[in-house]
Amino acid sequence: MNKKLPIIYSPHYNITLFGIEKLHSFDSEKYGKVFRYLKEKMGLKKYQFYEPEEVTEEDLLLVHTKEYLHSLSYSKNIARIAELDLLSFFPNFILKSRILKPMKYGTGGTILGCHLALKHGWAINLSGGYHHAKSGEGGGFCFYSDVPIAVYKLLKKKKMKILIIDLDAHQGNGFESVFKNDQRIYIFDIYNSMIYPMDNEVKQYIDCDYPVSSFTKDSEYLKILKEKIPFVIKRSSCDLIIYNAGTDIFKDDPLGHMNITTQGIIQRDEMVFRQALKRKIPILMVLSGGYTKQSSLIIGKSIENLLKNVIGVKTGI
Ligand SMILES: [Zn+2]
Repeated sequence: MNKKLPIIYSPHYNITLFGIEKLHSFDSEKYGKVFRYLKEKMGLKKYQFYEPEEVTEEDLLLVHTKEYLHSLSYSKNIARIAELDLLSFFPNFILKSRILKPMKYGTGGTILGCHLALKHGWAINLSGGYHHAKSGEGGGFCFYSDVPIAVYKLLKKKKMKILIIDLDAHQGNGFESVFKNDQRIYIFDIYNSMIYPMDNEVKQYIDCDYPVSSFTKDSEYLKILKEKIPFVIKRSSCDLIIYNAGTDIFKDDPLGHMNITTQGIIQRDEMVFRQALKRKIPILMVLSGGYTKQSSLIIGKSIENLLKNVIGVKTGI
C-alpha cells in the first residue's frame, strides 16, 4: 500500500454557486483540479491525502473579532469581500454554505498543514493563503486569515519563530496587519506594487519588503529569490516556514500583471523548498491566488516536480 503523504485536500474546498461563480475571474474549482491532476498524473490515491476539519469558531476568534464574524451574516458584506455584487441578493444561509464553508475547510487545512509540516518536514495544503483578510475585515476574496489563525493556534502550545514567504502577486496585507510587530513572525513579501491592495499602512510591518513592477520576468524574479531566501531564513532564525505560493504571478493572469512563465513558477517553488529542506526547516505550502484556467495545471505540474525531484516521493506510476 502506498503511504499517506502530508498533502491536504477536501472536496469541500471547491466553490460552486449555480454557475454564478464563473462570473468571477477566480477558478473556484482549482483545488479539485489539482487534486485530480495528482491522482491522474502521479498515481496518488485518495487515501494518501489528509482531509481537514472545518475551522472552529473558537479558532477563528484567535484572530478575528466577533463583530467581523457577525458581519458575515449579511449577504452584502460577503458580496463586497467576494467582489461580486450579485451575491447581495442571495439568502445568507446559501452564501454561508457555498462560499464561507469552503474557506473554513481551507483554514482547517492550513491548521492541519502546520501540524503535518512539523511532523513530516513538509506539507502542502491544496487551498489556503487568504492573505488579504485582517482581524476586523475581509477583502480580495479572503474571508478568514488562515495563516495567522494556524500560527496563533500553534504558538499557544509551542514557543517558536515562523517565517512567512509570501510570493503571491499581491501584497499580503491581511497577514501583515494581523502579525504587526509580533517579533516571533518574520514576513518576506515580494509583490507587484502597482496592483491591489497597495496597503501602505501595513507595509511597515513587512520585515523584508520587496515590491516589484508589473511585467517582471523570470530572470529578474528568480534572481531576487536566489539572493533573498537564504538571507530571510538566516535573519528570521525560523523553526517553520509558511510559503504562500500564489500562482497569479503567471504571465497570463488577469489580476497579477506579472510576466512569469510556467517554468519560472516551477523553479520558484523548487527553490523555496530546496532552501527549506536543505536546512531541515519544516515548510508548509498554501496555494493562495491564481486566476487563469491554466492555474490548476501549473500548480499540479509544480507539485509533481516537488514530489518527484525535490522531496523524492515514490509514487504509483
Ligand atoms: Zn494574489
